[in-house]
Amino acid sequence: MNNNTKLFKISPSGLYEFTQCESCYWIEYHLGGVSGFPPLMNMALDSILKERYDLYRKQGKFPPESNQLVKDKVKVFRDLEKLKAWRSSADHLEVVNSRDGYILRGKIDDVFMESDGRLIPADYKSSGYAPKEDKQKYYRYQLAAYAHMFKHAGFPVSDRAYLLHYFITDAHGTVIEIPFSGHVDRVDIGDINIEKMLRDIVKVLKSPYPGLNPECENCNFYKDMHILLKKNTEV
Ligand SMILES: [Zn+2]
Repeated sequence: MNNNTKLFKISPSGLYEFTQCESCYWIEYHLGGVSGFPPLMNMALDSILKERYDLYRKQGKFPPESNQLVKDKVKVFRDLEKLKAWRSSADHLEVVNSRDGYILRGKIDDVFMESDGRLIPADYKSSGYAPKEDKQKYYRYQLAAYAHMFKHAGFPVSDRAYLLHYFITDAHGTVIEIPFSGHVDRVDIGDINIEKMLRDIVKVLKSPYPGLNPECENCNFYKDMHILLKKNTEV
């Protein structure tokens, strides 16, 4: 199978959903869900953050709110041209695997380095409130997928990654200037087997609708639609 159109296109940001419910993932992929694009506000903040990190990058530094990175002995990735390609729509990272039937592709926000040159994937997360402690579990697979793509492109990768949270410090404030705070979150990704996960995803996507998952709140919410789907995909 050499034709790319027959390959399932898998995005790093949707991997957590697959771990939560295969039925919902199937629906989202085949019928299109509601969360296709990130909100415009987040996209705008992401591009501001890229500029901010790049400004410091040129001096070999991190922004002061990310001082934790220095304490963690993380190094600045200086090759802005390469990073710009990885962030772009044309030259972003991807893994095409015709044998297993998928294309994994996604644009990365940022990348840092270990002292020995191994790459550390990083993603900006902006929101209106401070991150909950367990928030990193939602993004582990996304970050591991970036690491997998780097590895596939021939780069050595670290077993850690970073989430750079930015949130409004005082959501109830009345000042026009909105104060943002940054929070650096280390995420361990070394134990995630992305290749196996991608094979599992293809297996589900290739099959008919798996049916309602009784343990999933979303599935139960859309119960009637799921029953209808099951009927329609079975015949
Ligand atoms: Zn579900």
